[in-house]
Amino acid sequence: MPDLYLYHPVFRQTFAVFFFLLGMTVGSFLNVCIYRIPLGRSIVYPPSGCPLCGHAIRWYENIPVLSWLLLRGRCSGCKAPISIQYPMVELLTGFLFLMAYIEWNISLDLLFILIYLALLIIIAGIDIKAQIVPHVLTIPGMACGLLYAYLAPERDLLYAVSGLLIGGGTLLMVIVGFYLVTKKIGMGGGDVMILGMIGAYLGPAKLAPVLFIASVGGILFYLIMRVVFRRGRIANSITTDDIKGSEADLDRVIYFGPFLALGGIILLFVDEAALYRFLSF
Ligand SMILES: [Zn+2]
Repeated sequence: MPDLYLYHPVFRQTFAVFFFLLGMTVGSFLNVCIYRIPLGRSIVYPPSGCPLCGHAIRWYENIPVLSWLLLRGRCSGCKAPISIQYPMVELLTGFLFLMAYIEWNISLDLLFILIYLALLIIIAGIDIKAQIVPHVLTIPGMACGLLYAYLAPERDLLYAVSGLLIGGGTLLMVIVGFYLVTKKIGMGGGDVMILGMIGAYLGPAKLAPVLFIASVGGILFYLIMRVVFRRGRIANSITTDDIKGSEADLDRVIYFGPFLALGGIILLFVDEAALYRFLSF
């Protein structure tokens, strides 16, 4: 067995730590993407700075999670608060990269899975903050899903293509049906793209549970937020930085994209049969 060292405990533990730290570092970059892509700005230049006072972020202020804690969530230049989104995205990405490594070890699968996770985190983050789903994220995501199915020997390209088409197509029909009945657009075209991408990666069999999680999550979130907004609290904590939200915005948009991403991440790790057994309790 030439690959045996990949399963040696010392190797596994070292790489588990490595992938957690890698995830936190990537998470730091995903924060930049979440902030800049909706503004149409480059994600590589210029280096990050405080959007209020322009204070350039020094290397020791850019260590994932740790710097946010040491700065106590404030810019060292102007003391403006730094959103808790930053350490949270870093921790989440670190945790998910670690989980992916545990599940897929060092492999071709792991590479494509990490891309999938990173894209879904950016998509969810941007949808929460700006209520848009950029095609520059979903279309490459679909292409990666198909390429993964094409390259990985145990995966089937036709299965991935049908996942993409059924994922996108189902949601498109729901949107059209909802519009014909209520004359309102309940979800955006971006949601179609997200489910298409998830379908390309996970295949058609996992789409129903993904949609279920997204629907329940989206509706619960909407109901909770309605109560919160009526009391005039937390309103600004979900829409920060340059994009300010209002109660009218929330009324217009039922958050669905982030919950599709959540479903797509859960079903990546959980077998749908296990989920059905759990739900049939
Ligand atoms: Zn500042």
